[in-house]
Formats: sequence, C-alpha cells, structure tokens
Amino acid sequence: MDRRKGLTLQLMVSILVILSGLTTLVASMIIAYRNEKKSLTRITLEMNKINSDRIADSVDGLFVTLKTSLSETGRYLMRKQDRTDAAEILELFLLNHPDFNSVVLVDENGILLHGFPGNFEMLGQKMESAGVTQSLREKRPLVSEPYISTGNRLIVLVSEPLFDEKGAYRGFLGGSIRLQEQNLLSRILTGVPSAASGSYVFVVSSSGNILYHPDRRRIGERVAENEAVQDLMRGKSGERRLVNTHGVDMLASYTALKGVGWGVVSQTPTDAVLSDSKKQIMGIAVYTIPIMLAVLLLIYLLIGKVSEPLVKLARYAARLSYRTAAHEPFPRIHDWNYEANKLYGAMTIAVNQVRHEFDSLLLEAHTDPLTGLFNRRVMDHYTKVWLAEQVPFCLMVLDLDHFKQVNDTYGHDAGDEVLKYFSQTVRANTKREHVCCRFGGEEFVVLMPGTTRKEAAVHAETIRASLEQNASPTGKPVTVSIGLSAYPDSAAEAEMLFRLADEALYRAKRLGRNRVETG
Ligand code: GH3
Ligand code: MG
Ligand code: MG
Repeated sequence: MDRRKGLTLQLMVSILVILSGLTTLVASMIIAYRNEKKSLTRITLEMNKINSDRIADSVDGLFVTLKTSLSETGRYLMRKQDRTDAAEILELFLLNHPDFNSVVLVDENGILLHGFPGNFEMLGQKMESAGVTQSLREKRPLVSEPYISTGNRLIVLVSEPLFDEKGAYRGFLGGSIRLQEQNLLSRILTGVPSAASGSYVFVVSSSGNILYHPDRRRIGERVAENEAVQDLMRGKSGERRLVNTHGVDMLASYTALKGVGWGVVSQTPTDAVLSDSKKQIMGIAVYTIPIMLAVLLLIYLLIGKVSEPLVKLARYAARLSYRTAAHEPFPRIHDWNYEANKLYGAMTIAVNQVRHEFDSLLLEAHTDPLTGLFNRRVMDHYTKVWLAEQVPFCLMVLDLDHFKQVNDTYGHDAGDEVLKYFSQTVRANTKREHVCCRFGGEEFVVLMPGTTRKEAAVHAETIRASLEQNASPTGKPVTVSIGLSAYPDSAAEAEMLFRLADEALYRAKRLGRNRVETG
C-alpha cells in the first residue's frame, strides 16, 4: 500500500487558482453590481424627474387655460344685467371645456344662480359643499381640496372670484372635476412612458391628498407623511429615495405645480431597479462563468502537464529502494520545467551512485577476494538452477598437492601467490561460460554447462599439464589432483554429484596425485 502523505502539486495549485479565480469573479461582480445599482438609481431618478416635470408643465398649462376661461366667462356674466341666457352660456362653456364635469355660478352667499348640467332643484338654494365654502371664504382664484360633492362624487372645484364694477365680491364661477372618472389628469397621465417596471405617477393636492393615482381606489387618500409629498406641500421639487406610505422603498422624483399648488410624483420601486441590476449581473455571470470554467480546466491540465515530471520523479522515488534501484528504469520526462530538470539531474546522480554501490556490493558478495573467482554461494546457485532446469553439466573438483608444504617452505604469503597463480591457470584453461569457484582453502571447483565428460576431462588434463609444466610463484611447479563427475550421467542430484567428484579426487590422490580421475 502506498501510504500517501500531503496533497499533490496539481491539486494544490489548482485549489489556489480556483480560489483566486472565484475571489476575482465575486469581487468584480460585487463592484459591477454596485456600479450598476448606482447608475441605474441615477438614471431612474433622472427619468422620473423628466416625467414629473413634463406632467407638471402640462397640468399647469392646462389649468392656466381653464382658469383664464373661467375668469373671462365670469367677467362676461358679471357685466350682463340680463342673465336669462346664462344657462346657455354655461352649456357652451362646458362644451368648449370638456375637462370640467360641471360648471356653476354661485353668488356671494352661496346661492346657486346657474349651473350646467343641471341640478335644477338646487337652483336658488344655498350650496354648502366644502369647495363652495372654501371658495366663498378665500375670495380668490382657487383649486379646492378634493371633497365629496352633493352628487356623492370625489371632486375638486376650480373657481374664479367675481367682482362687480365697484370691486365688491359677488361670488364665483366654478368648474368641477370628478377625480375618480376620466379627467384631465388621467388623460395627461395615461400612457406616460415609465422609467422602469413598477414605475407610476401620482398627483397630490397642496394638503397631501391624492388627486390622481393609477390605482383609482387610492384617489382621495391622504399621504402627507410621504417625504416627497411633504416637500411638495412646502412647494419644493426634488428627488429622493424614500419609503412610501405602504412601506415600499421607492426612487421618487417630484415637481411642484406652481399655479395650482399641486404636486406630481413619479416613482419607481427600488427593488425593480435592483432586480434590473441583479439581472444585468446574472447576465454577465452567465457569460463569464463558462469561460472561467474553461480557463480553469485549461489551467488544471496545464499544471498537470507542467508538474508531470515532478509527479513521475515522485512516483519513481516512491518505488525506489536499495534493492530495486539497480533494475528500476529511470523515468523519461520533458524538460520544460527548470526545477524538475534540476531534480532530475540530482536524482540521476543519486540513483547511479546507489547502482554503483549495489554492483560492487553484489560483486563482493559473490567473489573470493584473494583469487577473484566466484565463491561457494555462486556455485550453489548455478548447481541448483541447472538441476532444476535439467541443464547437463560437468563438475570438476581440484586440490593442490602437498600445499601444506608450500606454506611451510615459502611462507603463507607465497602460498597465497600460488593460489592466485593456480586460479589464473584454471581460468585460462576453461571456457567463458564455465563457472570457476574457490570452494575453500586450496580446493577449487569448476562447473561446465553443456560439456560432456570427455570434454571436461580434456580441460582438466590441460590444467594439470599446465601446472606441471610451468613454474609457480615459488619458482617451482605445483601439481594438482582433479576429480570429475557429470550431471545427469553420474548422478541426478547435487549431493551425490559432489560426493562422486570428491571420491574421484581422493582416488587421484591415492593413486599418486598429479592426475585426473572421473567418478
Ligand atoms: P594433499 O596433497 O593431500 O592435498 O596435501 P595438502 O598439504 O595440500 O593437504 P591439505 O589439502 O589437507 O592442506 C590444505 C592446506 O592449505 C592447509 C592450509 O594451511 C592451506 N591453506 C588453506 N587455505 C589457505 C590460504 O588461503 N592461503 C594459504 N597460503 N594456505 C592455505
Ligand atoms: Mg585440500
Ligand atoms: Mg591439497
């Protein structure tokens, strides 16, 4: 099991990149949202202001005309002594000014002198409605506060005072406008383009009563606590964000009507503006996020590619041990990354060092230090393998004759030199594929794979003859006795094979030494 500790480079860098990407995205979206909100708020207020100004202009202009007409007609009626045709004059007036629902001529005591269309039972009677009372009290050009008329309708009364030639107040000529029906306000305000969804316009009187509202049920409602309406009641125009009487957050622009003392408010729910900016941001996100994901994926793959050599080196290092270093092939890596190249270089040096040490240790473990021949361990290994694989081979056991005497005569060091010389002679007279081992002391063994007994005997004889004919390091020749056995001809297992070869060797000793015997 590969017990993993720590995160991979690719994962860590990817997490960092994703974190920084997300932070940038969120931050830029927050900034974009705030800017968008700010500019949308400004645009909405400006649009509302344009709206309310324009409506105020139209309404003001219309009232100037209406009041002029009222005042002209009133003056005309005052000048006439005979007013028998007054009803027709008023009818004509109404025809020309359809913005009025009715028109009345009232004297200074509130008595209805003439009216159209007729409530003729009221003729000659005292009128006591709020509008009439206000007009009689104030004796000036006036647009009354909304009130419920005798006909049970919510109306405003537009009145012009009448004076006789001596300047005495003689009543007024007034026109009524029904607020909850089609009227001049709804005519002007219907179809006014709005700044944003949810925007609407309403008109308030000088005491804060709604004169026009797209929701007709609200006409007549008092909304004096609305901050915009409070400004309007003081004759001030402006724009502001406010919470309306229904608790809705609004962006309101408002214009005071100079002539009639009314005010026009054009407003948009702040939420509508915010949801617009949210939509804008979502729109940006919809385009940005897939691009960002694609970029992240690309970066992820790129990091994978860049960190690939490090990953390969790390995996290689994870598999590495003193034992496997010699056989584990070194990974191939691309050379784009400086650090990876340096690591690769360092690791190559380290692994080669390990390999070298391993090779020398291996050699040490398998060779005899004095003669450089293989040791017993190698001999056992090959014997075992060839027996298992049934490879035919010959076994040659060699023992120097009277070696004790060499040591005794010339010393142990000279004896060692003789052993070296002996090993060189054995090597020189055997084949490359023959495994020459020092079995122990001055006893050597040669394993000869794929060799017949006859061929083995030839090699043995050559060795024996070479030693006999040549001077050893002592200056005199040494002789050797040799025993041979063969697998599978002599025996089928190792112990027997060695015993037979040994017996042959002792036979050679017994028969006078310096000879070859076969078991
Ligand atoms: P034989 O003909 O019967 O073999 O007589 P020998 O004297 O050779 O008798 P033997 O084979 O029993 O003697 C082995 C001697 O080899 C004993 C020991 O002193 C000597 N010897 C063993 N190993 C070494 C070695 O590494 N160096 C030296 N110089 N002598 C060794
Ligand atoms: Mg011996
Ligand atoms: Mg001996």
